[in-house]
Amino acid sequence: MIYLEQFSYLLASALFIIGLKMLGSAKTARKGNQYSMFAMALAIVITLIISGIVGPLQIIVGLVVGGLIGVVVAKRIEMTSMPQMVALFNGFGGVASTLVAYSEYMRFTGAESLDVNVTVVLSLFIGTVTLTGSLIAFAKLQGIMRGAPIVLPMHQILNLLLMLGAVGFGVMNVMEPSVQVWAILIIAVAAIFGVTFVIPIGGADMPVVIALLNSYSGLAASATGFVLSNNVLIIAGALVGASGLILTQLMCDAMNRSLFNVLFGAVGTNDSTGESGAPDGEQKTVTRYTAEDAAMIMDTVQSVIIVPGYGLAVAQAQHVLYEMGELLSARGIDVKYAIHPVAGRMPGHMNVLLAEANVPYDVLYEMDDINDDFQNTDVALIIGANDVVNPSARTKKDSPLYGMPILNVDYARTVMFVKRSMGAGFAGEANPLFFDDKTMMVFGDAKAVITGLVKSLKEDS
Ligand code: NDP
Repeated sequence: MIYLEQFSYLLASALFIIGLKMLGSAKTARKGNQYSMFAMALAIVITLIISGIVGPLQIIVGLVVGGLIGVVVAKRIEMTSMPQMVALFNGFGGVASTLVAYSEYMRFTGAESLDVNVTVVLSLFIGTVTLTGSLIAFAKLQGIMRGAPIVLPMHQILNLLLMLGAVGFGVMNVMEPSVQVWAILIIAVAAIFGVTFVIPIGGADMPVVIALLNSYSGLAASATGFVLSNNVLIIAGALVGASGLILTQLMCDAMNRSLFNVLFGAVGTNDSTGESGAPDGEQKTVTRYTAEDAAMIMDTVQSVIIVPGYGLAVAQAQHVLYEMGELLSARGIDVKYAIHPVAGRMPGHMNVLLAEANVPYDVLYEMDDINDDFQNTDVALIIGANDVVNPSARTKKDSPLYGMPILNVDYARTVMFVKRSMGAGFAGEANPLFFDDKTMMVFGDAKAVITGLVKSLKEDS
C-alpha cells in the first residue's frame, strides 16, 4: 500500500511540474491545467483512501459537491474580477494550512520532534498572514475598502514589532510545545501582520501582492506537508511558492519596480475616477471622431497595431475586435496586437481574452518585441487601454506610473483611442497623449465603437 501511495505521489508531482511548464505557453496552457487538475485529484483521493480518513462514498460526494461549487463560481465570475477570486483562493489555502497545522499541534502537543514543531510554527504564521492579507487584498479590489494605500503612524515600526513578536512566540512554542498559548499568540500576531502588511499597498500594486500571497499560500502548504510528513503536499506547496515568487518578480519587472519598493514604498494610488486633465493645467481640447471617421482612416493605411486594455475586457469586445482585425487583414493591412504585461487586471488577461476570440497567437506581440515597430506604423489603435500607453510614465517623476515601461504608441503616425470618456486609468494618472495633435479620440463603449467600425468597413467593401 505504501508503494501505491508513494508512486501516486511521484506521478502527481511529475504531472504538476509538466503542467506548470505547459502553462508557460498559451498553446499548451489548457492541457497543462488539465494535467495539474488530474494530479491534484489523484493526490487527494489517494491520501484519503490510504490513510482511511473517509470512505469512497464520502470521497465521491466531496468531489462532486466541491467540483460543482468550483464550476459555478468559475462560470459566474467576470474575467475582470479574477484577481479578487485569486485573492480569496489564496486566503482559503492559507487558512487550510493553519487549520491542519493547528489540529496536528493539538493532537500531539508537546510530543513531537523539533523539526515538526518548527514547521508547525511556520505553517501557523505564514498560513494566517496569507489569510488576512488576502482578505484585505480582496476587499481592496472588490471596492469594499479604499484601494489607496493606508499608512498608519509608525507603520514600518509596527510591522517590525509584529515580526519580532512572531519570532519570539515561535521560539517559545518550539521550546515549550505543551504551552498552547504560544501557538495562539503566533496566530494572533500573524493575523494582525497580514492586515498591516497589505493595507499600505496601493491599487496599482495589488497584482504584485496577490502573486506574493499566492507564493505564501504555497509556502504554508509546504510547511504543513512537513508537519504531516506528506511528500506530495511538500512538493505541490513548494511549486506554488516558487512559481508565485517568479510571477511576483516578473510583475515587478513589468512595472520597473523593486519588490521592496512595492511592499514598503506606499506609493500606489487607485480609484480610477480621475479625469485626464490637460497636461500642466493648460486649457487644451481633444479631437473627437466617430466610428465612421475611424473606418475612413483605415481606408488609407497599411499598418495597424491594436493595443487592448482593461476596457476591452469590460466591454467584452474581443470577438468583434477579432472580426475587425480580419476585415483589415483582408484589405492587405498589416495587423498586429501589442500586449503590455500588466494590461487588464490580471497577468495574461489580454492573452486569455484574445485567445477566447480565436485571435491567432502569431499576431500577438509582447511589449519588448513590438515597441520598435510603432515608429513605422500608421495607426496605433488603443482599445480600452490607458495606463499602459501613458507617456507620463516616462517623464512625470511624481506619477504613480513613473518608471513603468509603456507601449510606444505615441511614436505611431496616428494614435486612435477608443474609450468612453476622458477618464483616467487604474493609476488615476492624467494621460497627455489624449491632447496630442495626432491623436483621435473615438468616445464610446468599446464594443459599440468597434461594431460601428466593422459595419462601416463592410459597407465600404
Ligand atoms: P487602465 O485601467 O489604465 O485603463 C482602462 C481604460 O478603459 C479606462 O481609462 C477606461 O476609460 C476604459 N474603459 C473602461 N470601460 C470601457 C468600456 N466599456 N469601453 C471602452 N473603454 C472602457 O487599463 P490598462 O489595461 O491600460 O492598464 C492596466 C492597469 O491596471 C495598470 O495600471 C496596471 O498596473 C493595473 N493592474 C493590472 C493588473 C494585471 O495583473 N494586469 C492587476 C491590477 C491592476 P473610460 O472610463 O473613459 O472608458
